[in-house]
Amino acid sequence: MYSRTQNDNGSFNIRCLDCLMTIASCVENEQELEWLERRHICPEKALYELQPRDRTHENGARNPALRPPG
Ligand SMILES: [Zn+2]
Repeated sequence: MYSRTQNDNGSFNIRCLDCLMTIASCVENEQELEWLERRHICPEKALYELQPRDRTHENGARNPALRPPG
């Protein structure tokens, strides 16, 4: 998700709404805007991808090892 803001001189700034980083400023060309957006490697998304999908800690009750005795 990207936010484009326009400067007084008609050029654009692009900001990534995921990591809140300014990707580019004073871009005048629409094709360049799209290219820069595609080129951005978002650290927030990268971190999300790295997170383990294992969610067993959320259903501890289902895990016999974590059940209280009795
Ligand atoms: Zn980003």
